[in-house]
Amino acid sequence: MHDQKKVQDPVAEESALTPTYAAREMTTTIPKHRIPEQSTAPQTIYNVIHDELIMDGNSRQNLATFVTTWMEPEAAQLMSDCFDKNMIDKDEYPQTAEIESRCVSMLADLWNSPDHETATGTSTIGSSEAAMLGGMAMKWNWREKMKRAGKETSKPNIVMGANTQICWHKFCKYWDVEAREVPCEGNRFTLNAEEALQLVDENTIGVIVIMGSTFDGSYEPVKDVALGLDRYQEQTGIDIPIHVDGASGGFVAPFIQPELEWDFRIPRVVSINASGHKYGLVYPGVGWVLWRDKVHLPEDLVFHVSYLGGDMVDFSINFSRPGNQVVAQYYNFLRLGVDGYRRIHQACQDVALYLSGEIAKLGPFELITNGSDIPVFCWKLKEEVAETGNFSLFDMADKLRERGWLVPAYPMPANCQELIVQRIVVKEGFSRDMADMLLKDMHRALKWFQKQPHYVAKKEGSHFSH
Ligand SMILES: *Cc1c(COP(=O)(O)O)cnc(C)c1O
Repeated sequence: MHDQKKVQDPVAEESALTPTYAAREMTTTIPKHRIPEQSTAPQTIYNVIHDELIMDGNSRQNLATFVTTWMEPEAAQLMSDCFDKNMIDKDEYPQTAEIESRCVSMLADLWNSPDHETATGTSTIGSSEAAMLGGMAMKWNWREKMKRAGKETSKPNIVMGANTQICWHKFCKYWDVEAREVPCEGNRFTLNAEEALQLVDENTIGVIVIMGSTFDGSYEPVKDVALGLDRYQEQTGIDIPIHVDGASGGFVAPFIQPELEWDFRIPRVVSINASGHKYGLVYPGVGWVLWRDKVHLPEDLVFHVSYLGGDMVDFSINFSRPGNQVVAQYYNFLRLGVDGYRRIHQACQDVALYLSGEIAKLGPFELITNGSDIPVFCWKLKEEVAETGNFSLFDMADKLRERGWLVPAYPMPANCQELIVQRIVVKEGFSRDMADMLLKDMHRALKWFQKQPHYVAKKEGSHFSH
């Protein structure tokens, strides 16, 4: 990979950073690709790096990411107060560990765990690590069950929609589990119960159901899938658990759709993951995974570490990890309360519904979702515009980028890849005013395309990274 970079960038080796601020202090240049021989004053280096980072997108205009881009100054202060605390040093930082376990209890309560006082779960670096842990627990439990029955354990599979986030593809590859994906079909871009039932068998370690599909923001029908699996168990005797990937929705549904049953209220749901750094409203990286009860987390997967003093229980893929995101999660729980989360997410949803409605009115676009599940929605070009128009959604994305807006265009998942959509994730900090500014820019872009009859629509996205 490094060699390839050299070919693409022939001046890379000689090139250097020559800061302008520090003309009085700087007598040499700073190399880009090796550690400089000499030290340099902190202020100088701060300016050099700070200036380079100007080239990144503006996080507040980043409507592509699900991850929190704004927190209160008090939260930021708390986070910087404990940058130096390693989450894993539970014996040294018992109060941080205590705070983590309180957060687990609070989430267990939020997700209607049968017994939130003895909640079983852990913080992670994000939903991806949480997914690995949830998936592993299901694989271990399945293997035990098969062994007890004297059955073959070499061919585990997991059933999910083709719209799953990349972390589940990683899970399958890293842990050698066959991915059985329900393809998209027509206007269905998520998993449904009937299709899932066609793919399960006695080697299925579990079904992944997503609360808030990455592709279009819609909820998958956890309860339907559970009822389907109940019937399947009645017919075959095979008991297949559900893991809910609530990366986004796990922090949305309890607050603005509390009636929706998707969590531990459904007995077949054995574990749930969510990203604290998405609608949990914490800066990146914190995630959570919880099990229904102790039984569903195999003891064999839990390590006991003694070399930090005491008996430290550890179920994680990473070892060292910052403690401050967990503290920031706790800050949000106490600071916002249920009502605060509800109001923030409702405000995001109101903006999403308003903006999606206005985008639909612009003319060339047709909504696929409108932001009524999680405040995330996407749209496509109307068929006639896609066929005869002079611009694609990739062009639209580029045009908006000229104004700093990051609104990605991408193909839908397997079996529907010819369909290109554009998506907006509404987060705290994206106000109705900003939505209006974006609409104005979309309008302006459409006018520009109109005035360029010879413009030819792009077939794929531009890449801005190196
Ligand atoms: C974002 C996301 C993930 C991955 O979460 P990270 O916290 O970024 O690791 C997994 N699943 C879904 C549905 C997601 O939206």
